[in-house]
Amino acid sequence: MNRFFFLLMTASVGFITLSTTSRAAVVAPKPIRALLISGGCCHDYPGQDLILSEGISKRAKVDWTIVRDPSTGTKGRPSIYSKPDWSSGFDVVVHNECFADEKELAWLDRILEGHRKGVPAVVIHCSMHCYRAPTNEWFKFVGVTSHRHGPHFAYALKNVRPEHPVMKGFPAEWQTPKEELYNIAKLWPDTIPLGTGYSPETKKDETCIWVSNYEGVRVFGTTVGHYNHTMKEPVFMDLLARGLLWACAKLDDEGQPKPGYAPAVAPAP
Ligand SMILES: [Zn+2]
Repeated sequence: MNRFFFLLMTASVGFITLSTTSRAAVVAPKPIRALLISGGCCHDYPGQDLILSEGISKRAKVDWTIVRDPSTGTKGRPSIYSKPDWSSGFDVVVHNECFADEKELAWLDRILEGHRKGVPAVVIHCSMHCYRAPTNEWFKFVGVTSHRHGPHFAYALKNVRPEHPVMKGFPAEWQTPKEELYNIAKLWPDTIPLGTGYSPETKKDETCIWVSNYEGVRVFGTTVGHYNHTMKEPVFMDLLARGLLWACAKLDDEGQPKPGYAPAVAPAP
């Protein structure tokens, strides 16, 4: 091979490599595949399915699969949990279900197995009161133990860790609309409180926003979200979007979606 041809070949290979790399750099990542599980007692889950999925997708690049159990009582078994490998194919599971009387240990274990395989979670409101099996494993998973709530009232939700990316942009204190503040009996060791509300009933600050870790899997949780009017609040929806992105390790240190995970169309001001 003559020297000129060799140099030409080398330059061509270099160009091909460079252009391939450049192209790879601008290919946007695929949307986060989120599974939303809802249903059960005491809340408007058809309404909340829409509020959550549409609200979060205005703030982050997320595609949704929604499984709502038809039960409106405290017992119910969302069909997807019956499938082997039920969480496979999803990047995150959002639990917004309410089944306090589902207490079978094997059923609980089936649900948790889907997370032990490495799928992170967002846990909202009545999810904390589910699956009171003879073990405390569900509570360990969600990060807090709670068995009851106090009266419905509006309260000042304090941002107790403003430096955490999930709380960037959350006010120092947010006056909620009328809500339902849960009593927290225990914070599990890996749980970091991010927000609290004072309960006149228990006379203590109850953790109502947190992050946790279950066997190496990220969990973002909040007990806020009884009423649809709370879920629709932009402050709360912004929080949920940051929490979901954080659970997926797609939130940057400033509380913004990492490159490629902002929504296709920005929310209206
Ligand atoms: Zn509730």
